[in-house]
Amino acid sequence: MIKAVRLALAATAALIILATTVLSGAVAALVTTPAHDSTEPSEHAVADIPANYLALYRAAAPHCPGLDWSILAAIGKVETNHGRLDAPGVLAGENASGAGGPMQFLEPTFEEVVSQHEIPPGGAVPPSRYVPHDAIYAATFYLCDNGARDNRDLYGAIFTYNHADWYVRKVLTQAGHYRAAATTPTGSGGWVVPAHGTCTSGFGPRDGAMHNGLDIAAPTGTPIHAAADGTVIDSGPASGYGLWIRLRHPNGVITTYGHNNTNHVATGQAVRAGQPIGEVGNRGQSTGPHLHFQIDLHRQPVDPLDFYAQQRGPDLCGP
Ligand SMILES: [Zn+2]
Repeated sequence: MIKAVRLALAATAALIILATTVLSGAVAALVTTPAHDSTEPSEHAVADIPANYLALYRAAAPHCPGLDWSILAAIGKVETNHGRLDAPGVLAGENASGAGGPMQFLEPTFEEVVSQHEIPPGGAVPPSRYVPHDAIYAATFYLCDNGARDNRDLYGAIFTYNHADWYVRKVLTQAGHYRAAATTPTGSGGWVVPAHGTCTSGFGPRDGAMHNGLDIAAPTGTPIHAAADGTVIDSGPASGYGLWIRLRHPNGVITTYGHNNTNHVATGQAVRAGQPIGEVGNRGQSTGPHLHFQIDLHRQPVDPLDFYAQQRGPDLCGP
């Protein structure tokens, strides 16, 4: 009797383990960033990054949900020009700071990362910081552990990699150049200037944080136009932005319009390119009336000026 119960318990336990395994597999499948949800390399990236490195950056990045491959590629560029830098500590040995390999790991840091994370097959056994495969996966896990996961603190994660604000700025700027503005061009006539004014602050690091959009200064009440055909996914108050509108467009593109004085559209509404959707204001964290115009591609902000150039759109800062 006792034996039977034990057997039944063991069977139940085995089922629970099986169910948990299946479930965690399903959850992992949901959590893992699908391939179509990451950005595509720009022409510059394809020309500048050796093909084997580009493949490794793109394969490794999804192991950290929220981390775009372009951040890894930018670090590889800044550290050793993707292993091509002719200097001590790239192919063998160490530089004056003790760093080695294409991603310039200190030996203790690399050993700590690989002791905590299993490097997928394809590299050296045991993993080596001089092998691009191992170094790039280790960099992915290292960034993930230090804030890159789910984009919680990407700036902080990059800062941990090399403790300097100039370094973070350089990496973020390089990463922006490596990301294509759009996977599929949406057509030359599709994009219009959202507000006419003076560009006062561009996309990029600003005051130790990332400015994810383009600021266009214009008097309060200046019309804000939908930048392209789309659907309103937010229209109302938002922290920092005062009053904002967000539009969803085809191909994973979302545009954001912030600090608005008034909004003329409601969530769920379809809008056409050029349609007036609100008015420029000075609400939220703003030091003068302007439009904060932001473009996100697959949830990664891109430089609106680059995006418009690649879409053959009009000059955002023109008259
Ligand atoms: Zn802004």
